[in-house]
Amino acid sequence: MVAVIVMKFGGTSVGSAESIRQSVGIVAASKGRAPFVVVSALSEVTDLLLASARKALERGFSAKEMIGAIEERHQTVIQGLGLDPGIISEDVAELEQVLFGISLVKELTTRTTDYVASFGERMSSNIFAASARKIGLSAQAFNAYDLGVVTDQNFGNAEILPGAYQRIAAAVSVIPKGAIPVVTGFIGKNEQGEVTTLGRGGSDYSAAIFGAALGAGEIQIWTDVDGVMTADPRIVPDARTVDVVSFEEASELAYFGAKVLHPKTILPALDRNIPVRVLNTFNPSGKGTLILKNVARKEHVTAITSKNKIYVININSARMLRAYGFLYHVFKLFNDYKVPVDLVSTSEVNVSVTVDKSFDVSKLVEKLKEFANVSVLEDRASISVIGMGIKSRPGVGGKIFSMLGKLGINIEMTSQSYADVNVSIVINESRLAEAVRALHGEFFGAQVAQAPVAAVAKARQGKLKA
Ligand code: ADP
Ligand code: ASP
Ligand code: MG
Repeated sequence: MVAVIVMKFGGTSVGSAESIRQSVGIVAASKGRAPFVVVSALSEVTDLLLASARKALERGFSAKEMIGAIEERHQTVIQGLGLDPGIISEDVAELEQVLFGISLVKELTTRTTDYVASFGERMSSNIFAASARKIGLSAQAFNAYDLGVVTDQNFGNAEILPGAYQRIAAAVSVIPKGAIPVVTGFIGKNEQGEVTTLGRGGSDYSAAIFGAALGAGEIQIWTDVDGVMTADPRIVPDARTVDVVSFEEASELAYFGAKVLHPKTILPALDRNIPVRVLNTFNPSGKGTLILKNVARKEHVTAITSKNKIYVININSARMLRAYGFLYHVFKLFNDYKVPVDLVSTSEVNVSVTVDKSFDVSKLVEKLKEFANVSVLEDRASISVIGMGIKSRPGVGGKIFSMLGKLGINIEMTSQSYADVNVSIVINESRLAEAVRALHGEFFGAQVAQAPVAAVAKARQGKLKA
């Protein structure tokens, strides 16, 4: 039996009639490899849906105001593809009811927010499947939760439950033999049957979950850039595509800001050792980036990533001196208030941590102040230099310090992991783009990205399932 390939198409890859045609063409070209398609919502639609939910809460219901733009956006695409306008009618009617409900009860819970957000992927999967059928593919749309994606209750950032892989493996038997499933990314259901979402950008994670559950030969992430690049091309226009990245590097890259992959994507792939390929929908003959478990190379800077909108929380106490239990108290509070920590740096009497600004830290800070001096620095950004063996590569830290020193950019915190793939610093957000460009020049100016040639060649022949 042919191992399936999971092909995930992101928002811009399904954002217009032209893009969908292009994406469907890519699926058609792989039809002999048992494609299992996962789609995001049309670009910007998730934002529009979330804004509609808030409007319904704040201003009361107006179909025109809340559904108008969303429906029009989809109908333009449907028309451009020459499809039946009725293919999203049921979804639109249901969405209207939910928004009306929000305005009636004047309450918007995280549960209802996820329900509203789910319509983006539900509509895009219907459109994508209809468009594929139009060119003769036997495609059928499915909601991920009807194919076994069962999650916990953590609305907005749900996690799949143990046993989800088995449920998925069993549930896919509903897909008619020979049909190409087009499945909603981003969404699932909890055990109570309520819709949940896996976090913004979570369709990559959905693709990896299906890949692992189905023992896919490969997970392909089709997006709007040529692969994983040496930096975000929006910040560094001359960033280059990296041929091969290890799972470890890819996780760090994603976690520390490279939006091209959702941070959780690598875990399922790692679980089952499935290669992940990042490819450009608009340049399908490009090589893309291959993400593998074992990448043999040493001392290599792979990419520079950055994350803005972070806080630095400085926790200072003389009680920390030679005492045990202090760090336990500090991190227990982060756990109690469900605030995830990104970077940590400690000295004898100080702990500094970075936290994403989307988390409300006010109550946590109040609590910390009961036993320590606490200051919160806002408008900060982190920059991470990622690469295998970089700790042992002499001079990485020195180069960062001297380059930013020359620019008069103050480094407010540093953090380096034992895992040897990441050196991170924190600076003022206002200097971020300048710093990233300067560091990119420093590390990649004259450097040609090294790729372990044999591994790439082997994988490109499609033989690599390890
Ligand atoms: P999709 O909608 O296909 O999921 P995203 O917008 O989520 O696409 O991710 C792709 C974007 O990620 C790119 O357009 C690029 O601006 C951004 N990006 C950030 N860092 C990187 C990086 N290191 N390599 C490639 N893209 C990056
Ligand atoms: N549509 C969702 C979002 O915008 C998920 C995704 O695109 O991956 O966050
Ligand atoms: Mg994305």
